Amino acid sequence: MASIGTPFTSEATRVMLCGSGELGKEVVIELQRYGVEVIAVDAYENAPAMQVADRSHCVSMLDGEALRAVIEKERPHLVVPEVEAIATDTLAELQREGLTTIIPTPRATQLTMNREGIRRLAAEELGLKTSPYQFASSEEEYLAAVKEIGLPLVVKPIMSSSGKGQSTVRNDEEIKPAWQYAQDGGRAGKGKVIVEGFVDFDYEITQLTVRHAGGTSFCEPIGHIQVDGDYRESWQPQPMNDAAKAEAQRYAKAVTDNLGGRGIFGVELFVKGDEVIFSEISPRPHDTGMVTMIAQDLSQFALHARAILGLPIPNIQQHGPSASAVLLVEGESLCVSYSNLERALTDPDTQLRLFGKPQVSGKRRMGVVVARGNSIDEAREKARNASAAIDVTL
Ligand code: AMP
Repeated sequence: MASIGTPFTSEATRVMLCGSGELGKEVVIELQRYGVEVIAVDAYENAPAMQVADRSHCVSMLDGEALRAVIEKERPHLVVPEVEAIATDTLAELQREGLTTIIPTPRATQLTMNREGIRRLAAEELGLKTSPYQFASSEEEYLAAVKEIGLPLVVKPIMSSSGKGQSTVRNDEEIKPAWQYAQDGGRAGKGKVIVEGFVDFDYEITQLTVRHAGGTSFCEPIGHIQVDGDYRESWQPQPMNDAAKAEAQRYAKAVTDNLGGRGIFGVELFVKGDEVIFSEISPRPHDTGMVTMIAQDLSQFALHARAILGLPIPNIQQHGPSASAVLLVEGESLCVSYSNLERALTDPDTQLRLFGKPQVSGKRRMGVVVARGNSIDEAREKARNASAAIDVTL
């Protein structure tokens, strides 16, 4: 993109976000800082990114025709996916027809839409180490896969995220319920699962990697804790020995080079000693990367905006040990309110993002606290304490 025009004129630079959650909201804000005209799309009204975008549309993004219609109407120069659940074949067609450009590439969105494409690419084409795995489309195939992989193992629908439908199987009694849970929890309803050998890692990281006009840049590794496959806390930098750090960057470079295009990628890796094991990759900002809002001069969202607009990315500056702690709300409500924010925000170097999600039904991530400290431990404690201090009224 050679230049940026003025919003709401014929010269405007238009970007459409497909998915309007909390990550998209920050991307919208970063794009608007450059005067980009941003259109937010998601399947429900008043999604977080819609609240800050210039316009929004409520569309099922898995419905190829509806997605095509909204893109033909808005004529965005760039389409930036924020979630995996999109009619990616339609995106590929639209780019082939020369109507728009998909970030980072149509193929990257197609391959990462389900766990099978990316796992086969990493393990079978690129030769990266992964957990042992098998795919299963029926209960019979599943039981055979369980036998082959052996316990303990992890079962995940190939079309799911944030731990939905995912379980760890440690003994024989858990084998059947895990299949059922995966069938109920997958995004597209019943379907295929991946059965993965359980990796006994020392720690896991997100290696944020940004492909931009000047090459590929790496952020410092982000450590994180997941509960039931969903992120609760992250911190940066995760201490790593030099060998593991170099290997993590080599893995990230191999898979992002293959996917191509421009933008930020969240490469999820397990680390045991010097050994790195590839888990998965998001061709977009990563939820654990929220910590970069306080840890880096250019957050993952700012990096994404620069990369997709073809702007330079100089050395990424770290501000010191930092952490994030999510604000997880459980219950049922259409008008959540948050109080005791004074207590939560009295510490210096502590910030809060409330996502403004219009509804909670069950457990939902509604905000995040990011904090800096003299050490990772201190930063984590500050973030956790601030998040815990917030009173939530349903
Ligand atoms: P995923 O949705 O694949 O990112 O999985 C979510 C989380 O579940 C990961 O971040 C890990 O903490 C855990 N997990 C996933 N797969 C495995 C595995 N094969 N072995 C051990 N833990 C896993």
